[in-house]
Amino acid sequence: MKVIDILNNSKSTLFSFELLPPLKGHNIETIFATIDKLLPYNPAYINITYHREEVVYMPNENGIQVPVKVRRRPGTIGLAAAIQQRYAIDVVPHIICGGFDAHETEDALIDLDFLGIHNILAVRGDADKITGRFEPRAGGHRYAIDLVKQVTDLNRGVYLEKLMEKPKPTNFCIGVAGYPEKHPESPNCESDIHYLKKKVEAGASYIVTQMFFDNKLYFNFVDKCRKAGIAVPIVPGLKPISIKEHLSILPRVFDVQIPQALVLELEKCKTNNQAAQLGMEWAIEQSRELKSSGVKAIHFYTMGKADNIAQIAKAVF
Ligand code: FAD
Repeated sequence: MKVIDILNNSKSTLFSFELLPPLKGHNIETIFATIDKLLPYNPAYINITYHREEVVYMPNENGIQVPVKVRRRPGTIGLAAAIQQRYAIDVVPHIICGGFDAHETEDALIDLDFLGIHNILAVRGDADKITGRFEPRAGGHRYAIDLVKQVTDLNRGVYLEKLMEKPKPTNFCIGVAGYPEKHPESPNCESDIHYLKKKVEAGASYIVTQMFFDNKLYFNFVDKCRKAGIAVPIVPGLKPISIKEHLSILPRVFDVQIPQALVLELEKCKTNNQAAQLGMEWAIEQSRELKSSGVKAIHFYTMGKADNIAQIAKAVF
């Protein structure tokens, strides 16, 4: 089923979560174990992230560290298919601009279509860690909207080359990312929402937000989007803090603020267990307020951890 139909048909707030494919060489069973822990809370759909190649330093035959491009977490499409088949739950593989040309993207979309996967989340991919800039591959897309347009074209049967008179149209439901605290590269919220609206006009059916730790940021964002004429569902994304170091890691990596009240409580934690307990309680409070505001779903970023998400789901859904 398409995520937009799942969202629109729901009578109460749904639970969904995002998984990362395992690191190269690791076992798919670890992913199944994560899903098994969350299954009792009836996930409406499961997202699977996509990871571009990264430069890592590895020793060459002379033992000298040299830069090598590797995809540390391959397997998004295979994993999505395996999950959908094993659990009969709708999956939402992410498709990214970074590291692909448009033809490779089209091939990936054809794979998904043949596998019976009709949901995707179209995102640009992160900027280069060193330059801070995003550079598309030759023949690839610079912005997520270009990806949305490509999928919309394919949904109309418009492939990159004119192959035959009536090529088979695909039937993808497209989700896109939104940023309650604005995207870090955007000059301001207005500009970011302007481009978000363009993604919706290009064919995205719903928006999933970046993590946030203060619901006011989400409510203000939704308000601004509605005033800008964005009418599609905006699914809040939550990440429970699970280690003390998240205090510095999350703002640095995701450009999000941690409210002072949470910072103060986290600073008092002596162990990561205490930090995880606090992070979980905070996320439960956030989820309860979001649920009572009537959001269609709450989406959780697991980042490989299921126990805390399971406890939140048990308390909220
Ligand atoms: P875009 O929508 O392209 O926006 C990027 C920036 O460009 C924004 O500042 C926007 O305002 C601006 N912009 C957009 N269009 C234009 C235009 N036409 N002209 C000028 N400026 C423009 N990363 C991964 O690598 N893999 C994943 O699986 C993944 N999943 C994610 C899931 C969610 C829910 C979220 C919130 C993020 C995810 N990311 C993922 C991270 C994402 O790739 C980064 O946040 C990236 O920096 C931006 O992606 P985007 O799709 O929002 O980009």
